[in-house]
Amino acid sequence: MIKKFLKSVFRKPIKTKSIGNAQVISFKAHGVSSDHISYGSLKVTDGLQAAGYQAYVVGGAVRDLLLGRIPKDFDIATDATPEEVRKVFRRSRIIGRRFQLVHVMFGEEVVEVSTFRRMIEAEDAQTDEHGRLLRDNEFGDMEQDAARRDFTANALFYDPTTQEIFDYHGGYADTRNHLLRIIGDPLVRYREDPVRMLRAVRLSAKLGIKLDAATAAPIAEMKNLLDNVPQARLLDEVLKMLLSGHSVECIQHLRKMNLHHGLLPLLDVILEQPMGEKFIMLALRNTDERLSQDKTVSPAFLFAALLWHEVLGAWNLRVKQGGRPVGAMHEAMDEVLARQKKQLAIPHRQDAVMKEIWLMQQRFEQRSGQRPYRLLEQPRFRAGFDFLLLRCASGEVDDALGLWWDEFQDASEERRAEMLQPEGAGEKKRRRKPRKKKAANETSGEKSAVDELPATSEPSA
Ligand code: ATP
Ligand code: MG
Repeated sequence: MIKKFLKSVFRKPIKTKSIGNAQVISFKAHGVSSDHISYGSLKVTDGLQAAGYQAYVVGGAVRDLLLGRIPKDFDIATDATPEEVRKVFRRSRIIGRRFQLVHVMFGEEVVEVSTFRRMIEAEDAQTDEHGRLLRDNEFGDMEQDAARRDFTANALFYDPTTQEIFDYHGGYADTRNHLLRIIGDPLVRYREDPVRMLRAVRLSAKLGIKLDAATAAPIAEMKNLLDNVPQARLLDEVLKMLLSGHSVECIQHLRKMNLHHGLLPLLDVILEQPMGEKFIMLALRNTDERLSQDKTVSPAFLFAALLWHEVLGAWNLRVKQGGRPVGAMHEAMDEVLARQKKQLAIPHRQDAVMKEIWLMQQRFEQRSGQRPYRLLEQPRFRAGFDFLLLRCASGEVDDALGLWWDEFQDASEERRAEMLQPEGAGEKKRRRKPRKKKAANETSGEKSAVDELPATSEPSA
């Protein structure tokens, strides 16, 4: 069906008329029916138009539909002010202080409505000393709203009533040609908002479309401008990359553009750990797969994976110096989190879950007595187990451990009892001090130290 839809979209020659400075592309030419627009968005555009306002579906949704993809969400742009939108829909609320938007609720669906904005003229604009725009919230008209958007493909307006697309910047042709092109002068636009460089990489990777040469060219020279962007915003964008469902392609694109070096501490962590790279790429691939199957993924799980080999390194060092494994793990976790906190802006609220996942890894080694039963009852057992499987797949721990837990979880009581390892084996291990020989091996892999965990290594937290 998608194929048929794609064909219908791409076979037709572009047939346009102009209204003002916009090219208007008819349904006959583009083939995107309003049937593809969500129920809530149709209600919003209908409601606003009935009240005498302009209202269009805009941005990523129009682009995605033209590319034959199912949009993640639908944004609406209108000439009504937030207060006016609020008056049209009873179940709505204004959000944001500086950049006000309206959320209109239809059952489960929340439709985001924004008022047309304009780019502030250079002389009036508030920028930092590098030209980054600090303010961008003046209302404007539809044409001005198109001009302030980042890429031509993101600046298309779709009217569900007439099924026409309004295009001010050649975004329709670009999208048909699978090209992501920045609007205006790339140097100016990246200076205004350096995050657009990351968006260029993420969107081209996610959509599988090419970055226009002039759009790509200045990125290598301008990437240092990202240093001036607030950490929280960068982290947001990096998370979007990692959770885009195409994180592996995003990372590959970043590498190809030589953007990975010093771009962001978080990405450096990902890309510059030779030992952890395999594990991390597996974690990202796994995340992409989960997303493609509509499963949930948690940022904490991803952060835990990104930092795992650092934790492991710090832990091994301590164990080698004679530290007790559990205590050493707590110290290692705190050390890595404290170090990363300075650079990565990982929110504190993620710490507890990350630690739980890491601590569980020690407990998976203990397969005697009541311990495996207690571990199964952990609310985050599933996340811990998924993490263990990644470690197995990356060759860090023996597959047998993952297989054991895979079976144990769903086994009958009798089978579970059979599977348990004798207490004695664990006891022996507990008394054994970390051996020098094993410690010497640790540079070639962390498995040895994990295998040495005592049977009693219960997390103290
Ligand atoms: P996605 O499918 O990942 O949501 P998107 O293009 O919809 O992609 P959003 O972050 O949801 O991305 O942004 C919605 C729209 O807002 C974009 O399509 C674009 O028109 C505009 N936009 C977003 N970020 C910027 C930016 N940094 N500069 C200019 N315009 C932007
Ligand atoms: Mg979007």
